[in-house]
Amino acid sequence: GVAGERGVRASLTARDRVGIQDFVLLDAYTSESAFLDNLRKRFHENLIYTYVGTLLVSVNPYKDLDIYSKKQMDTYMGVNFFELPPHIYALADNVFRTMLSEFNNHFILISGESGAGKTEASKKILQFYAVSCPSTKLLNNVRDRLLLSNPVLEAFGNAKTLKNDNSSRFGKYMDIQFDHRGGAVGGHILSYLLEKSRVVHQNHGERNFHIFYQLVEGGEEDLLRWLGLERNCKNYRYLVQGDCAKVSSINDKSDWKTVQKALSVIDFSESDTEHLFGIIASVLHLGNLKFEADARGYATIKNNQETHWVSKVNCLSVLQQGLTHRKIEAKTEEVLSPFSVEHAVYARDALAKAIYGRTFNWLVNKINESLDSSRKMVVGLLDIYGFEVFSVNSFEQFCINYCNEKLQQLFIQLTLKSEQEEYELEGIEWEPVPYFNNKIICDLVEEKFRGIISLLDEECLRPGEATDLTFLEKMEEKIGGHPHFVTHKLADKNTRKTLERGDFRLLHYAGEVTYYWLMYYSSLFHKVMQHSKNAIIKHCFPSSEPDNKKRPETVVTQFKNSLVGLTEILTSKEPWYVRCIKPNESKQPAKFDDVLVRHQVKYLGLMEHLRVRRAGFAYRRKYEIFLQRYKALCPDTWPNWKGTPAEGVRCLIKHLGYKTDEYKLGRTKIFIRHPRTLFATEDAFQVC
Ligand code: ADP
Ligand code: MG
Repeated sequence: GVAGERGVRASLTARDRVGIQDFVLLDAYTSESAFLDNLRKRFHENLIYTYVGTLLVSVNPYKDLDIYSKKQMDTYMGVNFFELPPHIYALADNVFRTMLSEFNNHFILISGESGAGKTEASKKILQFYAVSCPSTKLLNNVRDRLLLSNPVLEAFGNAKTLKNDNSSRFGKYMDIQFDHRGGAVGGHILSYLLEKSRVVHQNHGERNFHIFYQLVEGGEEDLLRWLGLERNCKNYRYLVQGDCAKVSSINDKSDWKTVQKALSVIDFSESDTEHLFGIIASVLHLGNLKFEADARGYATIKNNQETHWVSKVNCLSVLQQGLTHRKIEAKTEEVLSPFSVEHAVYARDALAKAIYGRTFNWLVNKINESLDSSRKMVVGLLDIYGFEVFSVNSFEQFCINYCNEKLQQLFIQLTLKSEQEEYELEGIEWEPVPYFNNKIICDLVEEKFRGIISLLDEECLRPGEATDLTFLEKMEEKIGGHPHFVTHKLADKNTRKTLERGDFRLLHYAGEVTYYWLMYYSSLFHKVMQHSKNAIIKHCFPSSEPDNKKRPETVVTQFKNSLVGLTEILTSKEPWYVRCIKPNESKQPAKFDDVLVRHQVKYLGLMEHLRVRRAGFAYRRKYEIFLQRYKALCPDTWPNWKGTPAEGVRCLIKHLGYKTDEYKLGRTKIFIRHPRTLFATEDAFQVC
């Protein structure tokens, strides 16, 4: 209550030095420059957190700040939002207490571009819950597993990229499950769209997934011998394309130990880990397979040593044929058609990606089995890749950016809706806020029968006939007039210069992205993999999967469906937001790049969110609290007001001379249009 004003007051007196801790209180709230000034000011004071109402903005400090200790956690436990400087713990604590008092489910959406600090933020939240929630001996066990699932998932799902030495290459949604007293009793993880292409290809300066290097650098001698591996990353094609096997910020050897320990805590049996690393090793061996053309130009495998190891560690015997032939179903029989060398290389890489991708899913399931409880209430954490624009954008960027469109759409729906609901609840007229609604782009991608995904599905039904070009033509025909879709043929003269003939461009809410398309093939290897004796592989390629005769679900449709599922999960919960910002491209502390930050402020929708929060009324306060705080300013309300709090507030503001267009009185709260009105009142209070 009263203490709740301390923060406001603190931000009043120290405003010039450390900026304002809630953008809602910024006078020039529509100005992007004022927004940036405030963010910069605070960043240089090591104040990386700022609120927009209950949304938390976080700027990556790129250095360790002494603000995450147990003592800090205790400080933020059970304290009102505005009493202390903004912190991710304050948000976590507020979510937790709202959940306990309302007995409902929540989620925290953490967004921002690669390297902005999303994963660190989600770890901080998880740690806060693990450390601060009521606990018992039994729960400590759960707590350890929750915390240790992180290093395992990071080993298999993270990699060094140009933007981030520990970049998550998958989207992650995690439910933390609580019992009615607030003890953390379990968890559940969903993963989205692992970047499988990384298994077989890395750009310069990037690495494959951490686990490969951990195994080669840290694996015990016996293990390596059994897997047929040498302790030298340079020997493996899949590990050297980025030319940076060693990274100064990463210690693969000690990370290997951490992962081993974590695996044992999360119930991995010896045979599980044996099979798991058998798979990792077989991927490395696969990568070293070479092909040569026989007399007729067909592919044969050149180095049998590698095939031997792939077969041995994966218990596969029929691999040879699978890699050099494709099965074609003729009218009555199956015919084996031999591959060219180029085809065989493609098949090899596709197999490696499929094995790794499915193993990753298996791993997530396995972790879930060890965490699951009968869930009571949950706080969901969504740490998902931000909008991506590279020089070459392909299928994966398309999916990632589509996902971001969906989340932006959800954000718009939820924030506008909740704001509107509060106004309605309080009986105050809702004043519409202008904003860009990206629904038009979501529809362009996902609409039935004419959206990009539907068109792609249709093309995938015509294997052999469909090509990247026919797909492009089909899009031009069906969605050529759409304002957010451009191709070389459709573009005006100036735009045409920037577009290659086969590419298409989408005008996303966050900016333009040009896609260079690759048609997606479905997996060739299902039958072969079913014969494996490796338990994990067998599980990953179940024999009940639909055969070729049924219409297969394309990868993009699978992804779309998983996003629909995610949207359902999220809309049934109360939203909270953490928006992460990257201050510079060089991963350096104390460097604030205005242009870069301005761009992120824009596409993270922060100005829009602020505008919605300020739509008409910047500040709202329960009558009781407002009266309690300021009653000394009016002789009629001091020292005790006899009537209802609402009447007291009415009397108080009349005395203070509030003009009628400056405020509105709702059912339980007073709404104040400009923060300066409140500031003036607050100043008067300090004087008296
Ligand atoms: P993202 O998940 O958004 O790609 P990460 O969370 O992996 O980014 O952060 C990238 C790097 O930035 C981290 O490895 C860490 O070095 C640094 N970092 C991020 N957040 C913080 C923080 N709160 N304090 C200190 N360093 C941070
Ligand atoms: Mg991450």
